[in-house]
Amino acid sequence: AKADGRGCARRYDQSLDEALRQRKSLEQDLGRALERQQFEVHYQPIVDSATQQPTSYEALLRWRHPELGLVPPGSFIPVAEQSGAIAALGEWVLQQACSEAASWQSGESVAVNLSAMQFHDTLLFDKVASVLRRTGLAPARLELEITESVLLEASDLTLSTLRRLKAMGVRIAMDDFGTGYSSLSSMRSFPFDKIKIDRSFVKDLPGSSDARAIVELIVQLGRQLGMRTTAEGVETHEQAACLRAMSCSELQGYLFDRPAPIADLSSSNRPIIAE
Ligand code: C2E
Ligand code: CA
Ligand code: CA
Ligand code: CA
Repeated sequence: AKADGRGCARRYDQSLDEALRQRKSLEQDLGRALERQQFEVHYQPIVDSATQQPTSYEALLRWRHPELGLVPPGSFIPVAEQSGAIAALGEWVLQQACSEAASWQSGESVAVNLSAMQFHDTLLFDKVASVLRRTGLAPARLELEITESVLLEASDLTLSTLRRLKAMGVRIAMDDFGTGYSSLSSMRSFPFDKIKIDRSFVKDLPGSSDARAIVELIVQLGRQLGMRTTAEGVETHEQAACLRAMSCSELQGYLFDRPAPIADLSSSNRPIIAE
């Protein structure tokens, strides 16, 4: 900005100010959004690749902002992580998702995303255990999705929390596999139940031979390590057929359903709900 002369620098500063102002106001709104009940959990089915039947539903957080409309998590989760609001928000999602899943008579699981910050909480294990107790959801019906950022910090606390959750029967999935810095070493640091293959690989199927090679390798790695594999972002029948041919265990994507309140999913994808 220096070489551009004063005029440009000032304009640049103004837009920076504006961005900062917007972030501040989003942060303030976020602080009040929970008590104002502006959050919703949407669900996206994850289907068995052979039977096409949903085995679980991923809980995806949505913020219904009074002026901005439905705000996607990509634009407020990072803000919540920085402000610390993610702690309360994360607990709310977990409670909401487990209590809804407890009413699914057909027995599907629910997958909840956990942010790396939530693992700094020494009480995380107790919080999960108490939500399961309160909602009556069997631990085996809860799956927690974590990204490699959780393992990069890999403190003793994080590993012991993960081990205790697993010992209780909760399943742990590695999310966005292949996009982090240490994908393979993270597979050795913890025995995951499931690997989620990132959409960036799936979207180039079946055309790209590189993408095919990478996805096939991840599926085989999963099989050898005793982990199931889920392909994210499946949008076309061709992608689904290709993944099925590779024996990827489960598929998730707009081809089956977009995330929505459970009652709004297509009827073939809805769980049976207790009256
Ligand atoms: P993610 O965990 O990788 O979730 C999958 C994202 O892919 C979701 O975006 C989903 O709507 C989108 N998606 C699913 N199928 C398709 C498809 O076929 N095509 C395309 N283009 N996209 C597809 P969403 O809901 O916007 O969530 C974005 C991210 O926000 C999530 O990525 C996750 O990292 C985070 N997130 C969402 N809910 C929570 C939450 O409750 N807690 C935390 N910590 N993070 C959350
Ligand atoms: Ca996820
Ligand atoms: Ca993912
Ligand atoms: Ca992703």
